[in-house]
Amino acid sequence: MEKEGKRCRRRVVLVPAPFQGHINPMLQLGSILHSNGFSITVVHAQYNSPDPSTHPDFSFLPLPDSSSDHNILAADGVGFVLELNAKCKARFPECLAQVMTQLGSDDDRIACIIHDEFMYFSQETAKDLKLPSIVLRTASASNFFARDALFQLKAEGHLPFPEYRLQDPVPELYPLRFKDLPIPTFGKVDKFLQMLSKGSNIETSSGIIYNTTYYLENSSLAKMQQRCQVPIFSIGPMHKIASASSSSLLEEDSSCLAWLDKQSCNSVIYVSLGSVAFMDAKELVEMAWGLAHSKQPFLWVVRPGSIRGAEWIEVLPEDFKEDIGERGHIVKWAPQKEVLAHDAVGGFLSHCGWNSTLESICEGIPMICRPYSGDQRVNARYVSHVWKVGLELESKLERCGIERAVRRLMVDEDGKEMQKRGNNLKERCEFCIRDGGSSSNSLNELIDMIKSF
Ligand code: UDP
Repeated sequence: MEKEGKRCRRRVVLVPAPFQGHINPMLQLGSILHSNGFSITVVHAQYNSPDPSTHPDFSFLPLPDSSSDHNILAADGVGFVLELNAKCKARFPECLAQVMTQLGSDDDRIACIIHDEFMYFSQETAKDLKLPSIVLRTASASNFFARDALFQLKAEGHLPFPEYRLQDPVPELYPLRFKDLPIPTFGKVDKFLQMLSKGSNIETSSGIIYNTTYYLENSSLAKMQQRCQVPIFSIGPMHKIASASSSSLLEEDSSCLAWLDKQSCNSVIYVSLGSVAFMDAKELVEMAWGLAHSKQPFLWVVRPGSIRGAEWIEVLPEDFKEDIGERGHIVKWAPQKEVLAHDAVGGFLSHCGWNSTLESICEGIPMICRPYSGDQRVNARYVSHVWKVGLELESKLERCGIERAVRRLMVDEDGKEMQKRGNNLKERCEFCIRDGGSSSNSLNELIDMIKSF
């Protein structure tokens, strides 16, 4: 999708939030802009710092934020983001001044700043320096309206909502129920809303970028455009437009690809709960037996540190290991996009982070949705009830439920129908990024806008 004609060398400064699910789309966006003639500087937090060697064409500049206490992250993610913004806000002007003095020629001056919505401190500095800024929202467009409902419920005094309303539909937000709204699992709702309102403040922004497509979220994107005074760019799925560089914070274990090569087509259920979700040791054991009893081959990512009370998988019983033999393969971190694109993979048991959801859709892989927090519940609902390419595992994590869900997805007629719809969705998303497709057009508009600054 590289544009023809004179190559423009204006510089774009990217400010990703320091989480895997936010770094990936931001660096993908950087690659897309770089291949369209822009120079890229990534200004990043020291915590979860991206590896510059994976993107040798970009400049990387750490923001000295070392006093941020990342130990609070698991218990209070919202508090972490608020503190990070306060710390970075003081350092960002200095950092940008450094970028500007390093830039020699006029044609390499900064065109704009693109920042993650949760790195909202960037906006004020951009305004002070009279630089245009654009927001990247890394969740789905539909999730924005689910969050919006929280503000309304709060204003009406209905937050937290009572147990008996959990299954009720949220008015005008089909197919969401109250239990699907993105309430934080950790931290106080008030603090969460405070963070969201800072992130959603786009008063001085020139535009909003979403990693999504019109085919997936037509009505939410249209509603968003009606509501905002600035252009909305939907240029997803970005991982399919960007070059293939990885921005993994953990080392990818590629041994699983050789293991997948030995499995038959569409037979493997891939299991991963992303970079942030946690589970108890008891749930790990239930998951293990559920997978074993399903009799399907499985590839399972267990992130070190993601099991409360255990280092890794040492709590799994010996008889489980004997039972599965070569039928299961467990790794600490996988090259997920390659895994999902492998012919052997036929299903994905996922926490439904937005990146994982898009990556699965793009390969036509139906999903078992096991959301944990935030926007994951919204995504799970869209997967199971709007696009109908998956089913949701809603009950307590128990072996029988897991076994049944895996067999339903991988063996039953029901699963085959989801697979067919998944193939259709995959094709539609491919159309969106081709020349003349909605994401391709939107990207061209974004590029034209940045050039006009
Ligand atoms: N991922 C990966 N290897 C793994 C698990 C996840 O590369 O073993 C990547 C995945 O491809 C996705 C990102 O990590 O791009 C996770 O982002 P997502 O939005 O799905 O979830 P989060 O981690 O933010 O909850």
